Amino acid sequence: MTLRTLDTLGSLEGKRVIVRCDLNVPLRDGIITDDGRVRASLPTLNALINAGARVVVCSHLGRPDGAPDPQYSLEPVAQRLSELLGAPVAFARDTVGESAKEAVASLDDGGVVVIENLRFNPGETAKDDAARGAFAAELAKLGDVLVSDGFGVVHRKQASVYELAELLPSAAGLLIAAELDVLDRLTENPERPYAVVLGGSKVSDKLGVISHLLPRVDKILVGGGMLFTFLKAQGHAVASSLLEEDQLETVRGYIAEAAERGVELVLPTDVVVAASFGADAAHEVVAADAIESTPFGASGIGLDIGPETAAHFGEVIRESKTVFWNGPMGVFEFPAFAAGTKTVAQALTEVDGLSVVGGGDSAAAVRQLGFSDDQFGHISTGGGASLEFLEGKKLPGLEVLGWA
Ligand code: ADP
Ligand code: MG
Repeated sequence: MTLRTLDTLGSLEGKRVIVRCDLNVPLRDGIITDDGRVRASLPTLNALINAGARVVVCSHLGRPDGAPDPQYSLEPVAQRLSELLGAPVAFARDTVGESAKEAVASLDDGGVVVIENLRFNPGETAKDDAARGAFAAELAKLGDVLVSDGFGVVHRKQASVYELAELLPSAAGLLIAAELDVLDRLTENPERPYAVVLGGSKVSDKLGVISHLLPRVDKILVGGGMLFTFLKAQGHAVASSLLEEDQLETVRGYIAEAAERGVELVLPTDVVVAASFGADAAHEVVAADAIESTPFGASGIGLDIGPETAAHFGEVIRESKTVFWNGPMGVFEFPAFAAGTKTVAQALTEVDGLSVVGGGDSAAAVRQLGFSDDQFGHISTGGGASLEFLEGKKLPGLEVLGWA
């Protein structure tokens, strides 16, 4: 079965259309530091506005724990959306309360309202099916149909993603359709050589994808926080770097399987080790098998891949025809530890083929480092969702839209 698309909803003129977006942007002191996810939601929103729909935008932002928390208000996002749409956008101070109901009732055809953070309500992410169902029923009162377009959350069985899509006539928006198109190209007959670059901090999350990708790719390059679990698995000391002891056996299994399958597992040969976790921490480049040899000894923390590794990763990437990259190579938020990520991003822009960047922080990193979206084949708005897709998992937020 294929995904239900917007046209299956019929005429939307005058209809109240709830759009589940992923507007979970990074914020610093109330300022949006990367508005990529807001921009990515524009095609669907513009299509609905042009169709004369009354558009009710909902999203989560951060992890506010089921209660209102001003630091996670969607208000700055509503403002940014208004600037990008070049049209007024109303904002409701609650999600399913009086403010939301009034704001929706006063919408004109082609008008837009953003309702407050879904996760201010415990039902959104409740484990209990009934609690999610009850919250979805409240949401459903705000609309006649649902357009699901929050690609970053389709791997989550949450009220606005799953139960709401069962309660109302529902279809996928243009962003989800575009994301799936690219992921299909990564899974069905990708052009070779096919390289996958993995980094970031959620080590165990990302290890899962390796077993699924091993039979499908030619090369796997490992940087970021997870590289230390690989180095440790090879018998090297990693000082105080990020390490998942309980994954060592799994990682040893991957190393063996890669060798058996003839998949090239490219691990760092040098790393940048810092005295502590901080922007101004003293740091040194050392060989990957000598991490404890710096003056910081056992308290050193590996915060980036080294220059030799970055250069080699860059070569492997440029020689590939298909590249998927998820997870920064180091703590790019600190300029002193952003070089590895920058070199890898630069190489992706030079790929003669399909280059895909996936993951919220990875997308933020390439923009923060001065690259523009059109230098890459595709920048995905969903890290976890695209990884789970590549792992071959069933994604509840897509299944409920007819995808199988
Ligand atoms: P994405 O959102 O792209 O999927 P992740 O959320 O998995 O990526 O990881 C992003 C984070 O990983 C960044 O905040 C970065 O600082 C962190 N990171 C990268 N390398 C390291 C490292 N060596 N040690 C600790 N954190 C790291
Ligand atoms: Mg992240």
